[in-house]
Amino acid sequence: MVGENLTNIDAIFFGAHPDDVELSAGGAIANMTKEGKKVVIVDFTQGELGTRGSAKIRKMESEKAAEILGVKERINLSLPDGFLTANDKAIDKAIFVIRKYQPKIVVMPPEKERHPDHETANRIVRSAMFKAGLTKIITKDRGKHQEPYRTRKLLSYMQHYSFHTKPDIIIDISDTFYLKLEAIKAYSSQINVPGKSNPDEPQTLLSRPEFLEELEAKAIYFGSQIGCRFAEPFMSVEPVGLKSLSLIVGE
Ligand SMILES: [Zn+2]
Repeated sequence: MVGENLTNIDAIFFGAHPDDVELSAGGAIANMTKEGKKVVIVDFTQGELGTRGSAKIRKMESEKAAEILGVKERINLSLPDGFLTANDKAIDKAIFVIRKYQPKIVVMPPEKERHPDHETANRIVRSAMFKAGLTKIITKDRGKHQEPYRTRKLLSYMQHYSFHTKPDIIIDISDTFYLKLEAIKAYSSQINVPGKSNPDEPQTLLSRPEFLEELEAKAIYFGSQIGCRFAEPFMSVEPVGLKSLSLIVGE
């Protein structure tokens, strides 16, 4: 996707594979873009090792999904799917995007996860977030030194293993849940979308017909925790501070 040369953006959502961010935080993203906030999605890999689809198909799907969610820019760091490693190259790439976009909030995969790439993506972002603030680590954008940058607003979304963890923040996505579903269905190579998905490809956890029902059930479960129809849970690395208790009313 062609970017708009955005800086000072409101949030970066990092994912190991195209579709991770939509599945876990698509509603929260749509809530922000509807408020006029600037959101960037950064995928570490192209998902080329996925059982279904291909890197090319997943790129088209991910661009469509970003458009549905109102995301202005989505970039892919093209690191190796299945073998994502928290090495200097990966951390440098993450530092580059954090300094480039200077996000107020950074959202990443959880620490403990079923897919090793998800855990690794967490470690890369944790490391890059700290190092992006160190003046002696030099990175350049089109020949110009990037300014050091760090934010303390670092959150993780929930994937498979984190559902027995108590979330720190639950976001009401009742108004955007169906938009999130639409974005997820853009990935018809991964998700079962009748009439669009290829029925001859091997079945995966995500392509099972009941997968979207399970996703909806989770959103309903977390919604029930805060008295709304659908919600998404998040963990915060540091305590979340508010200027006034009145902000928890959420008006
Ligand atoms: Zn993934």
